[in-house]
Amino acid sequence: MEKQLDYDVVIIGAGLAGVYTALMLKPSLRIAILSAGPISKTNSYLAQGGIAAPVGVGDSPEWHFEDTMVCGHGYNSSRAVHKLTNEATEAILNLEALGVVFDKNADGSYFLGREGAHRLERILRIGDYTGRGVMETLWQRVLERSNLSIMDDAYVTAIHPSYDGCQFVEFATKDKMVRLGAQKVVIATGGLGRLYARTSNNEGIYGDGYALAMKAGLGVAHLSWVQFHPTVFYNTQGMQEGFLISEAVRGAGGLLKDSKGQRFMKDVHPMMELAPRDIVSKAILDVMKKCGSEHVWLDVTGIGSKQMHDHFPTISAYCDSKGINLDVDYIPVSPGAHYAMGGIVTDLNGMTSMPGIYAAGECAYTGVHGKNRLASNSLLEALVFGGAVARHISEAVEAIGCDGNLSQTEMAPNEGAIDDLKALNLANWMDLHMGIVKDEAAIRGMVSVLENSLASIQNEAFSVTRRREENALLVRLKMMKEVLAHDSI
Ligand SMILES: Cc1cc2nc3c(=O)[nH]c(=O)nc-3n(C[C@H](O)[C@H](O)[C@H](O)COP(=O)(O)OP(=O)(O)OC[C@H]3O[C@@H](n4cnc5c(N)ncnc54)[C@H](O)[C@@H]3O)c2cc1C
Repeated sequence: MEKQLDYDVVIIGAGLAGVYTALMLKPSLRIAILSAGPISKTNSYLAQGGIAAPVGVGDSPEWHFEDTMVCGHGYNSSRAVHKLTNEATEAILNLEALGVVFDKNADGSYFLGREGAHRLERILRIGDYTGRGVMETLWQRVLERSNLSIMDDAYVTAIHPSYDGCQFVEFATKDKMVRLGAQKVVIATGGLGRLYARTSNNEGIYGDGYALAMKAGLGVAHLSWVQFHPTVFYNTQGMQEGFLISEAVRGAGGLLKDSKGQRFMKDVHPMMELAPRDIVSKAILDVMKKCGSEHVWLDVTGIGSKQMHDHFPTISAYCDSKGINLDVDYIPVSPGAHYAMGGIVTDLNGMTSMPGIYAAGECAYTGVHGKNRLASNSLLEALVFGGAVARHISEAVEAIGCDGNLSQTEMAPNEGAIDDLKALNLANWMDLHMGIVKDEAAIRGMVSVLENSLASIQNEAFSVTRRREENALLVRLKMMKEVLAHDSI
């Protein structure tokens, strides 16, 4: 491919990892942010609970480190966790310098929430819409910066890494295929929750980044290490929208109850409702099986509707819309696919196995979360490791002095819709057999079916829809093969 630099840096993904990295890169660099969907259709926008950081009285990076390691069952990279917890406070200060305002107490100290497996209050928040609050502020900063270009109708179909200083990214818009060249590429495509039917994740989060990385020859690890959030709203009357009831609600006193109205976490873990997520999710699944029920109950009547509305306005409004009186009724909840602990393997600077390609945020695997992410460490991960990527690239790269007259290559018209995903038919199957409990016999049978589907898709003529289906199949196959190789949770 002819060398042709259009940008200094191309960032794939417009969630917190992508946008924060863009803002932290030196402003002399010309940067493009590509996003498959509208900028509000990210998991970052949906984040409710907040951002963990050891900023409270009596807290310390060492305690945050220990809680993260315990929650990850010791499978964490201790170097990555040290970086996360030592740099957390600086990341929060950076956000504040960009204009983000966190909730405060009357004395001006941070209002800190509590979530599962944290030994004390450690979660900085903006109401129960922290993700939206942070992202809206960061987007204002992005719009003020003339070195940042945003393309929010750009579904990336391929990355071509090279050692010669020019990486290529190909993407589809509604009507054409385009190729861009850049000195560095940052993959920030988020997780894979939408490969499951029952998920908290936003539209468009199908694990594309992992497939792009695998096809580009980059290292990818532990894609089957998926975290299931214990309390996704279960609509007893209709369509499941995957609305999350934040762990912070249990932190404020919400109690889990079975179909007879009995608490069950007391017999499971000393931290009860605030045990690590994997333990709570498994306990809920066991209770659901025992009671023959599709959900359990979250009892917030002890918190009361007044405090719920004050502290959790988004969650309260959602429950109101479903006719739930929070002073009297319980909230129906059950686990759903939430977060991918594995991903594209990077070092602590976010660099992948190819020096021109970086990864940050949920799509990256630094080993920081081990086998089970500590609540509210994910937005923090996007900040700390996105910041590291930005520093590393800024030190390594001199601006090529693009003048804004972009010479992006239009390759071909795009004639297909990009949202028609046949591969989604498998989402219910994933819930049943690749969920909290993995069914090896069913998985073994499905691997050969998917390998055949993959071969036939790869033989078809190029279309964006086929690429998307191929990506979803590649990721699912990798997940299943990990389970069969007993690299699973
Ligand atoms: C409901 C919910 C609540 C949460 N609450 C919290 C919380 O309180 N605290 C916390 O720490 N974490 C929370 N999390 C997890 C956290 O929000 C995510 O892990 C984090 O936001 C991921 O950020 P990201 O930038 O890596 O990816 P995302 O924010 O998911 O962004 C991914 C981006 O990649 C783009 N993309 C994907 N594929 C392609 C492609 N092929 N081409 C172009 N673009 C592509 C998408 O369009 C999107 O712009 C929550 C998650 C959910 C779902």
